[in-house]
Amino acid sequence: MAFTKKTVRDIDVAGKKVIMRVDFNVPLKDGVITDDTRVRAAIPTIQYLKEQGAGIILMSHLGRPSGEGPEPELTLKPAAEKLAELTGYDVKFVDDTYGEKAAEACAAVKPGDILVLENVRFLKAEKKNDPEVAKKLASYADIFVLDAFGTAHRAQGSVVGPAEYIPAVAGFLLEKEVDTLTGIFADPDRPFVAVVGGSKVSSKIGVLDHLIDSADTLIIGGGMAYTFFLAQGYSVGTSLQEPDWVERAGEMLKKAEAKGCKILLPVDNVVTDHFGEDAVGEVVDSTQIPDDRMGMDIGPKTTELYCEAVKQAATVFWNGPMGVFEIDQFAKGTEAVARAIADSDCTSIIGGGDSVAAINKFGLADKMSWISTGGGASMELVEGKALPGVEALLDA
Ligand code: ADP
Ligand code: MG
Repeated sequence: MAFTKKTVRDIDVAGKKVIMRVDFNVPLKDGVITDDTRVRAAIPTIQYLKEQGAGIILMSHLGRPSGEGPEPELTLKPAAEKLAELTGYDVKFVDDTYGEKAAEACAAVKPGDILVLENVRFLKAEKKNDPEVAKKLASYADIFVLDAFGTAHRAQGSVVGPAEYIPAVAGFLLEKEVDTLTGIFADPDRPFVAVVGGSKVSSKIGVLDHLIDSADTLIIGGGMAYTFFLAQGYSVGTSLQEPDWVERAGEMLKKAEAKGCKILLPVDNVVTDHFGEDAVGEVVDSTQIPDDRMGMDIGPKTTELYCEAVKQAATVFWNGPMGVFEIDQFAKGTEAVARAIADSDCTSIIGGGDSVAAINKFGLADKMSWISTGGGASMELVEGKALPGVEALLDA
């Protein structure tokens, strides 16, 4: 599906001042950025705007401040410095967002300049989409650009607000994310194989429901598989399970059958007597899980089956690990499936915080076609929901 909103390409930014909401919500340890993926992801749009001769004002949230004022450990200064380091551009930073100091710094922005404002969430009103916040941010610039895909599902002041006052368009990251994640429902190269795992059916029901509409094969793994086993009448011992969701799981299986989407469930599992690093795994068939055992990973037969299915695919979408990948001995299923995807020529799209962490842990990130930078936002797209931030932009 083509992106239906205007992007920075569709508006004349030369000599104009642009305020851009980016997602610089980076992980920090002792004031040092431990993963700069999000800063890197914003660079193409920043570069484009600079080359076009726009003056650039950047804003973002970082962490979860109380909203009662500045919190030194959640300043955006390290992100501004990282941007300077990665691009070689001169990047200015002002330790203010809504006050006189920020207004003056924004007023001084010239074509080609880059200014980073302080954390937008130091003021509580931002999260509530207060019109005063929106008006203030819009007053700094001529054009609003949204490139913060990771927060595009939140109707907050810095995400949707300025669009009410000044022309609002998408940046390249937002465009690419929305294009990629909605494209798997529009016209995926087939066979389209979806791999869904993780802990709970309840948190993924919308994802499963929508994927069944589009995928040729849906592979299910992780903790959620056990609720599906219950729907099939198997016992699952002490495995993660959601009794209240058994009926919905059963409905999903029926829906898939009606839609011609083939569902693969584990045929064997690595089970243990308790959850922990020191737990000893043994392999049992899915119909033979003892009462005092819990499933921690897909078993070797399942792994082979899943890897084979993935190898046949032209498009793979993956969300949710196949097992408790945080513990090495239960990461094997997740790793094998990840490698099968990485080694294939298919278009591979990965979404979800823990799935991305797993891919990074295995060092396979650069072998995937697209790794979504948004956790919640990517899930909402895959559920088929519209993102408020995108809705607020000008139609193309
Ligand atoms: P994502 O963030 O990629 O959307 P989820 O948050 O849904 O993924 O699920 C990730 C979590 O699921 C991981 O912490 C992992 O340990 C857990 N998980 C996977 N398989 C199991 C299992 N068999 N039992 C318990 N937890 C599991
Ligand atoms: Mg998660």
